[in-house]
Amino acid sequence: MSKPVVTRFAPSPTGFLHIGGGRTALFNWLYAKRHGGTMLLRIEDTDRERSTDAAVAAIIDGLTWLGLTWTGDPISQFERAGRHAEVARSLVDAGKAYYCFCTAQELDEMRETAKAEGRPPRYDGRWRDRDPAEAPPGVKPTIRIKAPLDGETVVNDQVQGRVVFPNKDLDDFIILRSDGTPTYMHAVVVDDHDMGVTHIIRGDDHLTNTARQQIIYSALGWEVPVMAHIPLIHGADGAKLSKRHGALGVDAYRAMGYLPAALRNYLVRLGWAHGDAEILSTEEMIALFDLEGIGRSPSRFDFAKLENLNGHYIRHTDDAELLTHLEILLDHIPSGPALKAKLDEAMRARLVAAMPGLKERAKTLLELLDGAQFLFAERPLQPDEKAGQLLDDAGRAALSALLPLLGDLQDWTASSTEAAVRAYAEAAGLKLGKVAQPLRAALTGRSTSPPIFDVLAVLGRDEALARIRDAV
Ligand code: GLU
Repeated sequence: MSKPVVTRFAPSPTGFLHIGGGRTALFNWLYAKRHGGTMLLRIEDTDRERSTDAAVAAIIDGLTWLGLTWTGDPISQFERAGRHAEVARSLVDAGKAYYCFCTAQELDEMRETAKAEGRPPRYDGRWRDRDPAEAPPGVKPTIRIKAPLDGETVVNDQVQGRVVFPNKDLDDFIILRSDGTPTYMHAVVVDDHDMGVTHIIRGDDHLTNTARQQIIYSALGWEVPVMAHIPLIHGADGAKLSKRHGALGVDAYRAMGYLPAALRNYLVRLGWAHGDAEILSTEEMIALFDLEGIGRSPSRFDFAKLENLNGHYIRHTDDAELLTHLEILLDHIPSGPALKAKLDEAMRARLVAAMPGLKERAKTLLELLDGAQFLFAERPLQPDEKAGQLLDDAGRAALSALLPLLGDLQDWTASSTEAAVRAYAEAAGLKLGKVAQPLRAALTGRSTSPPIFDVLAVLGRDEALARIRDAV
């Protein structure tokens, strides 16, 4: 029997969850789910200067909102520093690594010489075979791996194929700093091994690191996990998306009114394909996701495509569930608190009742919320400019004639109000629009809205009649 699949998402907590990180997490999550395995979350917080608790919280918040789950508690890489040091020292004992007593000045000189000679700056191995007894006093050593001097390191990547690194290009890099802390290269290998990670799925900016990490694996006699390096996401213009670009955190997509299911669907298609399937439910993604379907060229982020997909998901999401997403959105937009204050049970019920009309015309939850403004509006409404024009003398006259007819209605529904408005327009010899448009202006303060008879029904008799009276 083969080993259970273990993947991991290993973000550095130096900022929010970048959209590319969200995609990496999604791929790891899907792969684990597909194979009945687990995904772990490792916080790579060894860079103490740049790692913050706020960033850890933002990453967890972003993953949670995206619906991506991991097994067990998040693992702090920093807390495992003792283990990393122990493994590094065991490599020295085994003759696979060594103490290097170079001073900062020596290393500077080495770099300068290499530069002057037009070579890439590489450590020259001067302590590789030297007796530590010759160490200068007072210098705290680093530990360097004994990298192979010739031959090549081959990465057999599930996405990139066979990638060859000549060993002459890989120097004896540091695995433990002089202060006893591990380098990123070393910590990742030890952690992935100790955590039982079987598949490493990450951005292809890590591909050259992989060659170095494989040198550590082989020094330790550990099995290298399956590697899959996914091409980065580029902008619509083909330029690389900047990691520190504020608008591109997962939280920003939430605040722009995207549904997590839509973003998952969009992200899975950003670099992975199954035939030409565009719309995939999460269940379908789990059933179909594989490493073979990951493309080799960078994908381009396309907002229009994301919007269309989001519109699809909004139309196909249950009304009550949409309300839940809308309430989450309110926690993340500037106008949210004021609207939330009005969100009592009656308002929730109205929103759900209005949802069928609202969701037909919204590509984002922000648009949906905009369409719902008439529900939150307080009397007397302040009509916008176009609505003001509809409420001219003729418009107001039509409304004042309509008012008693609506008031007489026995039951108050979209169809009963529609029948009354149509009957009035016909009797008065007016086109329906000549009545419906002023009515829309009176009820919503705008010239566009969800279907007007739905608006009447959703507002309810008392509120609707009062708004019409205000306008007249
Ligand atoms: N911490 C690294 C990053 O955020 C990822 C390391 C890895 O996946 O191996 O880029």
